[in-house]
Amino acid sequence: MKDKNTIQKEIHLSGIGIHSGKNVDILLKPSSSGEIIFRRTDVGNVELTLDPNKIETRNSTYITSKECKIQTLEHFLAVLYMFSIDSLIVEINGDEIPIMDGSASPFVQAILKAGTKQIPEKKKDIKILKPFSIREKDAVVSVSPDPEFKITYSIEYDHPTIQKQKVSMSVNLDNFVTEIAPARTFGLLKDVPALRDMGLALGGSLDNAIVLDEKGVISGPLRYPDEFVRHKVLDLIGDLSLLGSPLMGHFKAHKAGHWLHLKAIHFLLDSPEFWSYV
Ligand SMILES: [Zn+2]
Repeated sequence: MKDKNTIQKEIHLSGIGIHSGKNVDILLKPSSSGEIIFRRTDVGNVELTLDPNKIETRNSTYITSKECKIQTLEHFLAVLYMFSIDSLIVEINGDEIPIMDGSASPFVQAILKAGTKQIPEKKKDIKILKPFSIREKDAVVSVSPDPEFKITYSIEYDHPTIQKQKVSMSVNLDNFVTEIAPARTFGLLKDVPALRDMGLALGGSLDNAIVLDEKGVISGPLRYPDEFVRHKVLDLIGDLSLLGSPLMGHFKAHKAGHWLHLKAIHFLLDSPEFWSYV
């Protein structure tokens, strides 16, 4: 059993939503409820909680209800998971978590500055007991037992800067902060018109994403040569956090994305024989 935690002080952040293109403020407030509660202050203070049945994906991971949605949760949720923050009120005056610089580092810095503290509530780990795989065409998520939380991610892009990239690691707060959180989201310039036609990437820019044309990166230097696959690890951590517990298992993903991460989560929730609380 591990302690649940909240933050010590309020945190205010603001910025543009990468998909909505709108400016948004978020105010994180300490809480002793033992839950992460999102409150849409621009929609009559409607509250949303992270029920996996209310999560959908469309180029980001978002939560939806009758009244409203909040999109691009994944980088923010990855940081809460890694800092073991399970008790928080997130007031937000728009429908998207700000993209900041495209990475999770601004959220990391804000939480390091505010500090965390335990609340008098405990949580159980989820331990994977049996291996399984979820496939869709050539994308795979495979999960197997492991005494630690490990991620192996591989991607293949028909692009000279990305090509094949793979990273494998035991995930802990130290290596998350230095190796994963700074990795930015990325996109191909040629995909932008189609995304914008769908109402996506309206706030995307050279300042909040790695942007590639046919030849290479046009948004400045990479933070790591394999920043692309490191960002996929960040996305996977954020999505897996929807299980609501610290994880003991090895999660391997190949050419996957939010939609397949979510399928693996639903498989686990529907298949209690594959895991147990410890
Ligand atoms: Zn991402």
